[in-house]
Amino acid sequence: MSAGGDHTRKYKLQTEVVKVSYDDSWHASCPPIYQTATFKNPDVLHMGKYDYTRSGNPTRTILQEHLAKIIGCKQVWVVNSGMSCLDIITRLLKPGDEVVSGDDLYGGTDRLLTYINNNGDIKVGHHDITNLDLMKSKITENTKMVILESPTNPLMKIVDLKSIAEHAHKVNPQCIVVFDNTMMTPLMMKPLELGADIHYESATKYLNGHHDIMAGVLATDNEELADRLFFVINSIGSGLAPFESWLLMRGLKTLALRLERQQSNCIKLANWLESQGFKVRYPGLKSHPQYELHKSQTKGTGAVLSFETGDIDLSERIVRNVDIFGVTVSFGCVNSLISLPCKMSHASIDPKVRAERGFPEDLIRVCVGIEDIDDLIFDLDHAIKQAKKEQKERN
Ligand SMILES: *Cc1c(COP(=O)(O)O)cnc(C)c1O
Repeated sequence: MSAGGDHTRKYKLQTEVVKVSYDDSWHASCPPIYQTATFKNPDVLHMGKYDYTRSGNPTRTILQEHLAKIIGCKQVWVVNSGMSCLDIITRLLKPGDEVVSGDDLYGGTDRLLTYINNNGDIKVGHHDITNLDLMKSKITENTKMVILESPTNPLMKIVDLKSIAEHAHKVNPQCIVVFDNTMMTPLMMKPLELGADIHYESATKYLNGHHDIMAGVLATDNEELADRLFFVINSIGSGLAPFESWLLMRGLKTLALRLERQQSNCIKLANWLESQGFKVRYPGLKSHPQYELHKSQTKGTGAVLSFETGDIDLSERIVRNVDIFGVTVSFGCVNSLISLPCKMSHASIDPKVRAERGFPEDLIRVCVGIEDIDDLIFDLDHAIKQAKKEQKERN
C-alpha cells in the first residue's frame, strides 16, 4: 500500500509494471511468498479467505491483480503454462461444437486442437487468417469458438481481430473469441479492447522474460466466463504455484524495459537482414504485406522475425555457426535465440500439412534479446559467411 500520492492520475504501463500493490503487515518491499498448500481455519466453523492452494493462494492473487491492472481487465487467472490456458479454454466446449482457427498456429496449439478434433467430437477448422473474407465465411451459427493469434510465428501473419470478433459475435452472440497474445504482450496489444472474449498468453515468454519458469495468463472482462474458467482451474489444479507466481512478478517489473530494447534491436536486425538480400518477415518492415493492419491494432512490432535463405542446407549451417544466439525453441528471453522451426518448434506438425500451409523448410526464426546490437549483427554476419564458406569447400 502506498501512502498519499495523486490517485486520480492514470499511470502509463511502464509505471504500472513496476508498481505492485498488496497488503502486508510488515510492509515488505517485495510481496511475500506464501509457500503453503493449506491454510488454517480461523475458527472450526468458519473458513478464511484461503483454505487450499489449488483454489487460491495470496501470492497468486497479488500477481493476478497486478496483471489485471496491466491488462486493464476485470479478471486474470494465472496457470502453470501457456498450453494449460488453452486446455482450460477448450474445456468450455461441448461435443458437437465447431471451432474456427488459423493455419499458422504455435506448434503446441496445433497439437492440442488436433487432439480435440480427433478425440473429442469437436470439429476444428484451420484457415488462412490473412484472408478476411475466407475467415468470415467459415464462421457460422455452429461456430462456438474462434481461436486466433497474431502475429503468428514464424510466418508473421497478421489477423484483423476487430473485424473477425465483430463478425463472429454478429453471427453467433454466444461465440467465444479467444486470442493468444504471447507475441505482443499487453504492452503492445489489448485483444479484449479489440473484441476478444478471452485473452491468453504464455508468460513463459516475454512476461517473465528469463526462461526460468513456465506460466500462462488468462484474462477476461466477462464475469460468467471468468467463473467458468476458474471452475476448470480449481477442478484440475493448474493454478500457478506460489514460487512461480513470485518469480513472474519479479520478471514483470522489467517487461517494458526489456521489450523496448528487444524491439529496437529487432528492427535494426530486420533492416540489416533485408539489406543482405534475404526475404525477411517482420511486421515492423514496410515490406510486410500487412504492415498497416498490424500498426492499426498494436503499439509495437515485437522482437521476433524470420527469414528465408532459399537453401535448407545453408539455413542449417547458419544456425550451427552462431555464437551469441542460443539454438533454442521459444522466445521472449533476455538472450537472443535462433531456430529452424521445421526441425524444432514446428516439427510436431506433419510435413505434408506444413507443405499445404506454405511453410518454407529453410525458414530461420530469430528472437532478439537485449544484447548489444552490433555484436548481434556481427555474430549473424559471421555465421552466414562461415556457412557459405563451408558450402563452397564441400563442392
Ligand atoms: C509458447 C507459446 C504457447 C505455449 O506456452 P507454454 O508456456 O510454452 O505452454 C502458446 N502460444 C504461443 C504463441 C507461444 O509462443
